[in-house]
Amino acid sequence: MSRYFCLDHPDVLIRETDIVQARPGRVALAESPFYPGGGGQLPDRGTLAWHGGEVAISGFESEGGHLWHVLAEPLELPPGAVEARVDAPFRRLMRALHTDLHIVNAVVFQDFDKALVTGVQMNEDGTARIDFDLPDADNERLRAIETTVNALIRQDLVVRQDHVPEAAAFAEPGLIRSRSVAPPPTSDGKVRIVEIVGLDRQACGGTHLASTGASPPIRILKIDNKGRHNRRLRIGLDGAV
Ligand SMILES: [Zn+2]
Repeated sequence: MSRYFCLDHPDVLIRETDIVQARPGRVALAESPFYPGGGGQLPDRGTLAWHGGEVAISGFESEGGHLWHVLAEPLELPPGAVEARVDAPFRRLMRALHTDLHIVNAVVFQDFDKALVTGVQMNEDGTARIDFDLPDADNERLRAIETTVNALIRQDLVVRQDHVPEAAAFAEPGLIRSRSVAPPPTSDGKVRIVEIVGLDRQACGGTHLASTGASPPIRILKIDNKGRHNRRLRIGLDGAV
């Protein structure tokens, strides 16, 4: 996987770039500011604009070494200059939910015997779910982490990224937090690490806030037992739910 521009520049939401390949209803860009989805984070929304026109993007597909931007209309755009515009409120929502899920994950990992994640999904309505392998946890104790998570949001901890060689990533205890999957390494054999300074380091390939204080507080909406091992926490951003 090559590195997505948005991971290094999550604040750059408008990018002048070029269409380098075009098919009916889809284009590949020289440089794309969009996050195409993955790891439980929804794909970005946005538009492509050119002199005299604009079209919404309805999705993304990786094929033939290109990230294809699927257009909401079956247009055949000519190669050349275009302005890619990421939907800012949607990106901000995903960054906040994603960062808050890291905090929830960190607190559960630390307080519940290094419990691993078995699934995660962020939603456009400002809610998200995260599943943990937690066969014996007390749900009231789990619910009580809401206070700790919100205190960590208020502390406005810096969030930064790092890239470490794959072998080192697997050797560092706790860095690979998912029970089944690790994010794919980049083309130069590195694994991206997202660090909330003073709290947590884990492998991840999504977009996050620059610091935790940019998120509103969260609420734990529901805790479900999913099967014998899995515990599902539903969270929501205060103000969105
Ligand atoms: Zn992440």
